[in-house]
Amino acid sequence: MDLFELIDLMESEAKKRNAPIFLHNVKLEPWQILIATVLSARTRDEQTSKAVAKLFSKVNSIEELAEMKVDEIESLIRSVGFYRVKARRIKEIAEILRGRKFPETIEELLELPGVGRKTANIVLAYLGKPAIAVDTHVHRIANRLGLVETRKPEETEEELKKIFPIELWDRLNSAFVGFGQTLCLPRNPKCEECPIRNSCKSYNSRKDF
Ligand code: SF4
Repeated sequence: MDLFELIDLMESEAKKRNAPIFLHNVKLEPWQILIATVLSARTRDEQTSKAVAKLFSKVNSIEELAEMKVDEIESLIRSVGFYRVKARRIKEIAEILRGRKFPETIEELLELPGVGRKTANIVLAYLGKPAIAVDTHVHRIANRLGLVETRKPEETEEELKKIFPIELWDRLNSAFVGFGQTLCLPRNPKCEECPIRNSCKSYNSRKDF
């Protein structure tokens, strides 16, 4: 299947089905994308959206976040999983970044507490840098479709970079996430409604479910 067509189809299915991709079509500053992505770890998108809205209604800059007390941050982000740990992490990040140029390389981003490859790549893609953020949806769907045969997200990232033209990298994560939230679900994917089932290795082999 043509890869531009694949991303177009995934995006249109996600939109049609009101996928709750929380960073989609939201205008945020790079530091806010970083903080929102840290908050999103192991948390449902709806819960992350609530916490992000509450936090950014009170905090307008990384400097303001650095000045906040941990318990104040906790009270604003209580809807996300591990909110106590995350409150400490995002305060630490804010303290490190205040007054500094925002990091623009994967190496600089990975040095921040609580920032892994997925978060760093989401931020880089948002900054317009060539990056593919691989989360659980991207890893699962890329393997089901047969685009890759990998065990770890880092391997998936490397393989997808070889397959997808660079012009599609910044759309890939949100297209896959929205598609994974609404159609290619972790359990019981809605294959009979899926417009790309004829190109799907898993559907055609019936090995996966
Ligand atoms: S056919 Fe099923 S497993 Fe394959 S991409 Fe579509 S929903 Fe996912």
